[in-house]
Amino acid sequence: MNSLTKDLFHFLKPKNELENQGEFAENHPYIPEELWIKCPVCKNAVLSSDLMENHKVCPKCGYHFRVAARQRIEMTVDEGTFCEMDGEMNSTNIIDFPDYEKKLKSAKLSSGENESVITGTAKIGGEDAVIAVMNSQFMMGSMGTVTGEKITRAFEYATQHRLPVIIFTVSGGARMQEGILSLMQMAKTSGAVKLHSDAGLLYITVLTDPTTGGVTASFAMEGDIILSEPHALIGFAGPRVIEQTIRQKLPKDFQSAEFLLEKGFIDAVVPRNEMKDTLARLIRYHSETITEEEKDV
Ligand SMILES: [Zn+2]
Repeated sequence: MNSLTKDLFHFLKPKNELENQGEFAENHPYIPEELWIKCPVCKNAVLSSDLMENHKVCPKCGYHFRVAARQRIEMTVDEGTFCEMDGEMNSTNIIDFPDYEKKLKSAKLSSGENESVITGTAKIGGEDAVIAVMNSQFMMGSMGTVTGEKITRAFEYATQHRLPVIIFTVSGGARMQEGILSLMQMAKTSGAVKLHSDAGLLYITVLTDPTTGGVTASFAMEGDIILSEPHALIGFAGPRVIEQTIRQKLPKDFQSAEFLLEKGFIDAVVPRNEMKDTLARLIRYHSETITEEEKDV
């Protein structure tokens, strides 16, 4: 082997188990690719353990990677306080949509969850709350009948027990495999939000990338306080559909969290590392047990 071939060989990944034996394995210890993750914005390679420690925010440029629902709960609520509700509820193929069962099965396998939302009760900074977290890994967080039912039940529980509701949204919209029944969830969840609001209780939404379609057109934008993660895409229809409908060129980044903040659609853009403290503070400010002295602070 000449020096050039040797250099090339050095950069090759072992192709199979046999090549990973003997001299090659001794001289070239195998480093699993998943140890390093390339940031899509700054293109730097980041150690996955560093990324996890930093709540999946790129330590070099601040890019917010998407987070699975369980991990989001872990980073938001006080340790050991999350108590899941309706975790065993499953979707069925109610309108006999072709291949829907197959899609549900693969969504369950890839996400390890039964549905596109996880709901439950928890403490955030010592404050009791009902929390719902959507999951982009389950059919891109699409809203089916079970998603809507779980969110509605979470609101009903919160209204009954006089608790605030926090929802982290991420969604491609209503689930087309459930037809009109998925669209009905927009009205059902909105009704539950209204009853919770009429009882004088606090509802905070946290929009994460991407929040679109029927979820944006219902409970995502109905929060008393609407927060967002930086650079999240938030919209109803896609830009091409809007341009073709209104026959006008749209401004750049018009569906970004920052643009929506500027136009008054959302209240604040909060980096992930500050989210838990921000939520805890907001719940505390609106708590029914807060004293007059605490209000003045
Ligand atoms: Zn980066």
